[in-house]
Amino acid sequence: MTFPLADRVRDLPPYLFADLDKKKAALQAKGINLISLSIGDPDQPTPAPIVEAMGTAIRRPAYHQYPSYIGAHAFRQAACDWIERHYRAAFSPEEECIALIGSKEGIAHFPLAFLNPGDIALLPDPGYPVYNTSTQFCGAVPYYLPLRAEHGFLPSFREIPADIAARARILFLNYPNNPTAACATRTFFAEAVAFARAHRLCIVHDAAYMEIFFDNERPPSIFEVEGARDVAIEFHSLSKTFNMTGWRIGFAVGHQSLVSGLAKIKTNVDSGVFTAVQDAGVTALTIAAPTVESIRASYQHRRDRFVDRLRKGGWDVAVPKATFYLWTRVPTSESSTTFVTRIMEQAGVILTPGVGFGAHGEGYVRFTLTADADRLEEAADRIARVL
Ligand SMILES: *Cc1c(COP(=O)(O)O)cnc(C)c1O
Repeated sequence: MTFPLADRVRDLPPYLFADLDKKKAALQAKGINLISLSIGDPDQPTPAPIVEAMGTAIRRPAYHQYPSYIGAHAFRQAACDWIERHYRAAFSPEEECIALIGSKEGIAHFPLAFLNPGDIALLPDPGYPVYNTSTQFCGAVPYYLPLRAEHGFLPSFREIPADIAARARILFLNYPNNPTAACATRTFFAEAVAFARAHRLCIVHDAAYMEIFFDNERPPSIFEVEGARDVAIEFHSLSKTFNMTGWRIGFAVGHQSLVSGLAKIKTNVDSGVFTAVQDAGVTALTIAAPTVESIRASYQHRRDRFVDRLRKGGWDVAVPKATFYLWTRVPTSESSTTFVTRIMEQAGVILTPGVGFGAHGEGYVRFTLTADADRLEEAADRIARVL
């Protein structure tokens, strides 16, 4: 017997890389030493104090019972303190903060609370695929905002037709950005807030890479802009900041009505984050700054050596100011998928084709800096020999 999939699953965008995956498996079967620069998952372990906090927490019988739906008070307090310390925006842990099973979980559930079928959500293209799929799961309609190099990979609100803006209920933003590595300015966030207020829509700001920045230039939170508190919710993740992708913990802060709407959905779907993981999260959010600084420094070191080596090999890539991605134009006239396939087969280096993040990603490729500097240099050398 086969069971037909529901329309919402059948209508998901097609998976573009089946052919690429098949070719990769064939190379692996031949024992080729592939350098994978395609996965957005830190290669370094979680800092020891966080692991130790978990070791203690896991032995507390009280934590073996259901956690709080919205998160332990201590975790929400630590999250709000973190936001206030870094961005000078004060939020109430009781009403304006919620713990998440990773920020992806929160971002995916949020539209269920605020989109009706037929509503529009405004999404960046290229962008993190969850904005689109979560919109579609609500029967709502995605409207793509192109991110163009000449506009700093920031969407242009002036280009949005009036009838689209009128039906839009959510604007998704993500800075520092995956995949383009672009950062937003406070001026841009002010424009976004003005647009949201004018059209009575809310802003979901995905801030997963906020702590992975370089050259001591901390990117802004949307809450550094006046009026943002009335329209925005910001999703933070411990995954990239503390090498904790496997732990599944994040949080959102923002307008009380947005946080409580998300909480209503979550209360009916999950039962919160394992309290021991939240304890480890408190340790992460309160450990000394040098821990995060050394994570940043290691990406910056990799970035500098990799960019330098790619340029020596004749590929003039731009230097990212944040995230662990490098987003750059395909240096030939090939499509991004053709180019990535060729680099994989001829150089043994795996990149991500830009088109995988949306139509406006075509013509670009994404590298991740989640390999050590020697390996990144070897990847650059291998690519240079092929180009
Ligand atoms: C990694 C990532 C996330 C999700 O991280 P979690 O592990 O779920 O906290 C969210 N948004 C973007 C753009 C990401 O790259």
